[in-house]
Amino acid sequence: MSFRYKGRRYRLRPLPIFLLFLIIMGICIWLVKGLVGLIRGDDPTGASSADSSAPSSQPVKPTGGDPSSSDSSGVSSDPYGDLPEGKLSDWNLILLNHEEDNKIDAELDFEKVKFDTQYVDSRAGEAYQAMADAAKKEGITLYLRSGYRSISEQQTNYNANVQREINRGNTKEEAIRLTNLYYTVPGHSEHHSGLAFDIITPEYHHDVYSLDERFADTDAYRWLVEHCTEYGFILRYPKDKTALTQINFEPWHYRYVGKEHAQYMKEHSLVLEEYIALLKQAGRE
Ligand SMILES: [Zn+2]
Repeated sequence: MSFRYKGRRYRLRPLPIFLLFLIIMGICIWLVKGLVGLIRGDDPTGASSADSSAPSSQPVKPTGGDPSSSDSSGVSSDPYGDLPEGKLSDWNLILLNHEEDNKIDAELDFEKVKFDTQYVDSRAGEAYQAMADAAKKEGITLYLRSGYRSISEQQTNYNANVQREINRGNTKEEAIRLTNLYYTVPGHSEHHSGLAFDIITPEYHHDVYSLDERFADTDAYRWLVEHCTEYGFILRYPKDKTALTQINFEPWHYRYVGKEHAQYMKEHSLVLEEYIALLKQAGRE
């Protein structure tokens, strides 16, 4: 491309012209954005130039009603606005773990229902039945290997193991230390609540029997992890949170907390310890 001006011939090179065009367009966009920002009353020193993504151009929500928006900190006036309803004293939010305070001294009183050979809290049992029915439709049969366990039953198992270790030649202190690696101290087991479900399949029960990480390789595990929160259950001891739970990864152990709590915990990757701490912060005593 070329043209004549006052008898001289000028050649136009496409690349510099294109670059000039881009620079001019850039300046125009920058000017228009600045003008719009002024009209809308944005902070002129704000991130609008460095951060061209959505937050600055989206209307601010008065409450964090949508959980997906709660991550943009400072947007919501109530940081706990999207927490599901519920108090720490609710039956489905009981926390039993290794910590001194998180135990029960006496048996809890609740109606029980039986699945396979095991009893559980009937309220959680209803949800389990719905989950088992849904799994069945996809060709997966669930089997409740372990449910409610009384404090005295746990005490019997615990003592028996301490005795086994003593019989192997360990001192009593050593026997207790070794037992604590595999047995929950009576009063602290989540199985006392009737809300803990050790779930496998009849095939796994028959072929493998022992509860170990091999269950994580089954279709049943994959189905449970994907769907359990829809029925109010959480995978209680996930692999990436063992430092918090103080319990090794247990692909078979599910805990009933209720749908809303379960879904919130899944969305925010929280274990029960973290979720209870959050409820405490929110003043849900
Ligand atoms: Zn368990």
